[in-house]
Amino acid sequence: MSATDVKVGKLIVISGPSGAGKTSICNALLEQLPNATWSVSVTTRSPRPGEQDGESYSFVTPEEFARREVQGDFLESADYIGQKYGTPKAPVQASLAAGRSVVMEIDVQGGLQVAKRMPESIRIFVLPPDSASLRARLEGRNTEAKEQLQKRLGEADGEIAVARDSGCYTHFVVNDVLEDTIEQVKNIIEQE
Ligand code: ADP
Ligand code: 5GP
Repeated sequence: MSATDVKVGKLIVISGPSGAGKTSICNALLEQLPNATWSVSVTTRSPRPGEQDGESYSFVTPEEFARREVQGDFLESADYIGQKYGTPKAPVQASLAAGRSVVMEIDVQGGLQVAKRMPESIRIFVLPPDSASLRARLEGRNTEAKEQLQKRLGEADGEIAVARDSGCYTHFVVNDVLEDTIEQVKNIIEQE
């Protein structure tokens, strides 16, 4: 696959229910868009096996998260099934100012906040082909205990409804065949 050259810094928001394929798509974008940087979110959830602090996330205590929130560090933040997640503002602003694109994977509550604060952003909502695929993907990823997995699946319909009803997403893509979805997302980014 040929690399795509994104010359102007863009803020690219990727949202969707857990298991839809957001991380897979973001990883491909970071590999294939030479100008793109990853927004490292801060979270209170525990690291999964293999997740290194400071790479996929910065893992912090609830107290540290609250301190940073009060300090105004976050561009947006949300509570997702009992854990806090937030996007540090400063690295996003620094990358965009340097002409680099920023890829951020955030939930729909965060998507609403970014739509208001940075309306020029490209906001893509990733849908699974159907609910059976979503379950199969989450089960196949094997990163969550059963109760956690159920909670995540239980959020999906509501998240999709908010994404559709709010009108805050600029694009919806159905992640059926991953390679096709990646191409579709790259085309959206190039056209914007
Ligand atoms: P999310 O970040 O939205 O929670 P992931 O990217 O972790 O989702 O994907 C969930 C699981 O589904 C992973 O095991 C991933 O390899 C797999 N997956 C992603 N996209 C597809 C696809 N189009 N078809 C089949 N499996 C997929
Ligand atoms: P996970 O625990 O699977 O990594 O992420 C759970 C949910 O939190 C996903 O919908 C993911 O997109 C979202 N998320 C990750 N980082 C952030 C963030 O910084 N802000 C918000 N609002 N959501 C986030």
